[in-house]
This record gives sequence, C-alpha cells and structure tokens, in this order.
Amino acid sequence: MKLPNGLKRTCISLCLLALASPAAADVEAVRVWRAPDHTRLVFDLNEITDYQLFTLANPERVVIDISNATLLGDLGDLDFIDSPISGIRTAQRDDKSLRVVLDLTASVKPEAFTLGANGEFRDRLVVDLFDLETRPVTTARTTPVVQQEDKRDLVVAIVAGHGGEDPGALSYDRKIMEKDVTLAIARAIRDRLNSMEGYRPVMIRDGDYTVELHDRPKIGRENRVDIYLSIHADSYSGRAAQGVTIYALSGETADRENARRISQKENRADLLGGIEGDTNIADVDDDLALTLLDLSMAWSIEQSVKLGTNILASLDRVAKLRRDKVQAGNLWELRSPDIPSLLIETGYLSNPEEAKKLATRAYQERLAAAIVEGVMAYFYVAPPAGTLVAWQKANGIKPAPPASYIVQRGDSLSVIAQRHGLTLNELKSRNGLTSNTIRVGQELQLGSVASAAPAEHTIRRGETLSEIAAQYQISTASLRRANNLTGDRIMVGQKLQIPSL
Ligand SMILES: [Zn+2]
Repeated sequence: MKLPNGLKRTCISLCLLALASPAAADVEAVRVWRAPDHTRLVFDLNEITDYQLFTLANPERVVIDISNATLLGDLGDLDFIDSPISGIRTAQRDDKSLRVVLDLTASVKPEAFTLGANGEFRDRLVVDLFDLETRPVTTARTTPVVQQEDKRDLVVAIVAGHGGEDPGALSYDRKIMEKDVTLAIARAIRDRLNSMEGYRPVMIRDGDYTVELHDRPKIGRENRVDIYLSIHADSYSGRAAQGVTIYALSGETADRENARRISQKENRADLLGGIEGDTNIADVDDDLALTLLDLSMAWSIEQSVKLGTNILASLDRVAKLRRDKVQAGNLWELRSPDIPSLLIETGYLSNPEEAKKLATRAYQERLAAAIVEGVMAYFYVAPPAGTLVAWQKANGIKPAPPASYIVQRGDSLSVIAQRHGLTLNELKSRNGLTSNTIRVGQELQLGSVASAAPAEHTIRRGETLSEIAAQYQISTASLRRANNLTGDRIMVGQKLQIPSL
C-alpha cells in the first residue's frame, strides 16, 4: 500500500490539478479487511473529496460514488474471503465521478467517513459494511431472547478480579478475600443486567479460577463486548483508607503502550480486534496499525471516562467515594484498545468496617444496583446504533431497572429477595404472599429497586433502637418490623436491616 513512486504521482496529480477545474482526486489504492461484525474497505485518496453512499436491493449492492475521482490501477487483487462482498465493479461516469459497485451475498448496513492524511498516510475514504446478522454467542442467558436484527443487546463484560490461586487483597483478619467479594458483586451485576431488556452480561470469570489476561480480548471479540467492567477491592497499609475509586486508562500510558505493542508486533488480531480482527491484520504495516490503534484508544478512553462518571454519580448514593472523579491508571486490565473499560475498586478490605460491609450480600447488591444504574445512564445518552436501547430512546422509552421478576427453576423466595436488595418480608408483602411457596413462571413485583434497597447498620456500644431509627429518619416501629424485633433489646455487633422510607 506504500507508493513506490509516490513523489512522481503527486507531481502528476498536481499538474492535472492546475489544468482541471474543479480539482480531481485519485483513488490510489483500495484495501479490505474482514472484522467479526463488519467488512472495511479503505480507499486511499490523494485528497479528500465528496462521496455518496447508497444501497440497492435485488440483488443486494452497495454503491459508492466518489466525486471528481479517477481510479489508478485495478482492483483485481482484492480478497473478499469471509465477507459478504462477492465482487467489485467500477465505472467512470460522465459527471467525472467514480462509481464503485459492491455486489453482495447478504444485506449490510453501510457507513462511510473520511480520514485526513496522517503521517505517512494519504487521505482516506473508509467504508464499513456492518453485518445485519449477529454471530452466535457462546454465553448462555437465563432467559433466551430472540435477537431482532436491528435491536441487539448491549454486551457488558464483567471481570471479577483475581480468582483461583490469586486471592487478591485480604481483610485485616485475613478472613475475607478479594476474589470472593469481586465474584459476588460481579454476579449481582450479571443478575440485574439479565433481568433487563436490551442488556446481555458476559462473565469473564464465573467461579474460583483465574482467566488469563491474554484470553480476555478473544472473549471480548467473540461476544461483541460494548464495555468492560473490572471489579476489585483494595487494600492499603493502615485501616483508615476507605471508599470507591474508578480507574480508566491514562492517555499517556495508552500512547506508550500502543507504540510498544506495534514495535513488539504483539498479536495484531487481539490488538485491533474491534477494528479489523482478521488474520490479514498481521500484514498491515506498522504506521497504519498505530494510527488505527491511536484513534480507537482515544475514543475508548473518552468513553471510559464518561461511563465512569455516570457510575460514580450513582455509587455516590450508596457508598463512600474515595475519589469523586475517574482516575487515570495504567493497569494492565484497562488496556483494551477498542472497548471502553473501567476498573472499579469497590472499597478497602484493609478497613475493618468496609471489609465487613463488602462481605454482606446487601451491600454487594447495592453496589451492583448503582453500577448498573450508571451503565444504563451512560448508554442512554448516546446508545450505539442498532441496539434495543437506541430504539427505545428513539421511541421515547426510558428504560428502568427491573420492576418485576419472573421466577426461574431453582429459585427460592429468599434468594430472589437478596438478589434484588429486598428483605424476605418486603418481597412477600409487596406481592401479598403469606407463604414462601412460589412457582416457576410466576411474576413477582419488586417495587422501585433503588429506593427499596435496604442499608445495614451494625450496632455499636451505647446505641439505642430509637437513636438508630432517628439516624435513618424512620420510625422505631418500622425498624422493629424490618428486623422482626418484639422489644427494644439489641446487642452490640448485631446487624439491623434499615428499611426504605
Ligand atoms: Zn484487585
């Protein structure tokens, strides 16, 4: 794709430019790559020119009219293997435009944009043909959903930090391990996303084992992941540190990392998965690879910060924030070049109180609910085209966290209550249930999840029930009811559920 006699060619086109008006553009080369979900064609131009893109049906074709353009060379060498393109034809039209017709074996959603010259690269016209049929996905979902072509689910990859031989951070008393806390929170996020339309969670780890870092890009690519959430818990010397910190990749690290990856010829398919993802990528020259990587990384960092800001805003309501802005980190886990990625430190296991909270189901659920709320807020602002959420937004439907739950095989009432941040009694009273018997397929009302999520209070020396009630602005009676207390007798260390208002 380099021009051996580029200088000469520039001169020729400059001479032409002097004679012809308006200016004419040369199409100097055309390149093609196949990615998991789309096919990309790049037209190398000696200058940016207007274009028109449209489709024709029966048979399916994509037509690209490039204004005032001439094709240099021929396109016989293009390899369309694995792509929906069966052939390419060009014609020079009377209005001096170059018409490029792509014959297709399947309909696609075409998009085009121009890229200005950059370093060694000429101006470019990029045409992406997005597949309309999504590829089969390997991860099972609790409720199988028929995927409509234009309303795909947003895919959220959840990485539960550590696992297996690697316990991660330990609590002050070494009883609580980070790998268990992260897995529990990750599962709570998964369950919440699973019960909502338009989202599909993918667990990168769903058990006590480690997933190699280098396997993650492949998992991400196979599942067409939209965002990565990596869940962790921190530890620090001393007991004082506490609260949530969210990290996105720093721009500086990204630049350094990209240059290193290109120079070390790191697996290009993993690196540029979302952009190209084809075995041909090994043949792409270093400058193009670096340009693509930089473009894609800059976008994903910007998106990561937006996502993180949304999640911090919702976490602020249920947890202490150690930092109220997304922090720039250079952690390995964040170095996914094309997918917005966050590392969420949910709190400090070195802080005895926070460690205890992090180990409780109720707090894990509250964190998960807030994280999911932030994810929803982020996606609702600018939903990717072709997703159900984009369709919902276009139709004025504001997605809400799940208001009801359909009982699945193997569920028990107490597990459903826990999973949705409710006490068993709350769930029963919301559904007028007098016993714990439920049946598969039964719909349970959950109420407003966010406001119903109970807080937990551990009783300290000298506290009384009425003081605790006052602290949470609730009545002593409702506090008694929520905890099945008959009198005012409480014990130091006892945990109380704090009902919502
Ligand atoms: Zn960790």
